[in-house]
Amino acid sequence: MKILVIGATHGNELLGVKLYERLIKQRSRLLEHVDFIVGNPRAYAARQRYIDSDLNRSYGKKGHAYEEGRAQEITQYIRRTKPDLVLDMHTTTCDQPVCLIVGSTKGKAKRRFLRASHVKAILQVHPMDSIVTLGDNVAAYEVPNDQITTELLDSIIADLQRCIDDAGGHERKKLFAMSDKIFKRDVTPEQAASFVNFELSPLGFVPIMTGENSYKKQTDYLGFKSPAPKDIRIR
Ligand SMILES: [Zn+2]
Repeated sequence: MKILVIGATHGNELLGVKLYERLIKQRSRLLEHVDFIVGNPRAYAARQRYIDSDLNRSYGKKGHAYEEGRAQEITQYIRRTKPDLVLDMHTTTCDQPVCLIVGSTKGKAKRRFLRASHVKAILQVHPMDSIVTLGDNVAAYEVPNDQITTELLDSIIADLQRCIDDAGGHERKKLFAMSDKIFKRDVTPEQAASFVNFELSPLGFVPIMTGENSYKKQTDYLGFKSPAPKDIRIR
């Protein structure tokens, strides 16, 4: 099995790079199965989220933004190297549990990975021109910045090992299926401040990836919403 790990799709998110460094140091034999690229090299060099536009909103676009060109390069790279599984590594400033992000729960290799991963919460998102549009073999990790410890990196490495071995072990998951964005115009700052990510809000939905910086971001939404999660078993 061949796994492509993409680090720094957002240039200030270092989870993927740290994972790769840990693999080289501690588990270099796994590199037989793991390929690694930096998603957004220019943004990574500058340690900023992006240069012209969000790379994870640039897939399938053909404009002149640096990230739109980079999304095309990554797409071609994946077509050429044909990994069984693509893992995009993200971090967040939001207060939330570690979660896995997918476009669907379809795809043989992806299901094998989901079964292998210790992470319980799965967020199923709409495509939004993100990397999940590339196929059923793409998943992402979203890890809060303050949870990037060597223990966490080693848990992810163990996920990779179990996936390669098809050892399963973590079939039971909680699936949060994104139903919509939470638009800023629809909630007051007080309501937004009361949200607890991944827990049902009195407004009748589960807020996801909302945080203190949400109102400062250059988007018209605070995060995503999902109905109450489903207990699922990945077979
Ligand atoms: Zn990110």
